Amino acid sequence: MEKALKLSLIAVSAIFISMGYAEESPQTHEKAEKKEVQQHKGHAKHWGYNGEVGPENWGKLDAKFHMCSEGKQQCPIDVVPTKDANLSPLDLNYTKESKSVVDNGHAVQVNMQEGNIFVIDGEPYELKQFHFHTPSENHIKGKSFPMEAHFVHASKDGNLAVIAVMFVEGDANPTLDKIEKEFPLEHNKAKDLNFSKESLGEILPKDKDYYKFMGSLTTPPCSEDVKWFVFKNPVTASKEQIEAMHKQINKENNRPIQPTNGREILE
Ligand SMILES: [Zn+2]
Repeated sequence: MEKALKLSLIAVSAIFISMGYAEESPQTHEKAEKKEVQQHKGHAKHWGYNGEVGPENWGKLDAKFHMCSEGKQQCPIDVVPTKDANLSPLDLNYTKESKSVVDNGHAVQVNMQEGNIFVIDGEPYELKQFHFHTPSENHIKGKSFPMEAHFVHASKDGNLAVIAVMFVEGDANPTLDKIEKEFPLEHNKAKDLNFSKESLGEILPKDKDYYKFMGSLTTPPCSEDVKWFVFKNPVTASKEQIEAMHKQINKENNRPIQPTNGREILE
């Protein structure tokens, strides 16, 4: 990508991250509160998953959302691998606890303490937050899942990387219990949530084989140049846990599948 274009995308992301407006962005509790204030002032554009503010209209809601309709590497996608690249294991160094949980009106999001590092090609990316979509946004080989979690990481210069975990119905997940015991959540009112790095590990699959591709945020401003890592293996959650998450989110918060446009999807 041309450097100028890349920088402008980072700038757009940075604007929205600083506004606390992108659901995929490394949003903090304080920023979430700021967002609500801005909405009341009418500065930030309202977007959602249904009707006039739904995904098919995101690109028209605000000039800054133009990538939602013009982008060529949008997410989510149906993940079908195109190349066996013998990918090396993910270099995850999650050592810190969670900080808070918030329903930002688009997703239930767990904000993390600083210091959980994912190293990609020698560059450290810090885990900012993870959040849930019901049903899943990405599909794997045509298959949708009842829930998907996105672990959102940012590098020092604002590059983004997302790790996606699919859920299937089965045994209850102990980490989800810790999150859901804070339900019901009021919009943009974060509650303290302190679980360990071990609990963080329990929401990730043991077998960490993954698919890798380039993509975008799945929410406005749909900025591209996001590195995606989708675990091949799901983790389980009970039917009740998936239903509780869906009830809290109170809508289907999955953007429709986007065209891959010949993207390389490595496995
Ligand atoms: Zn997401």
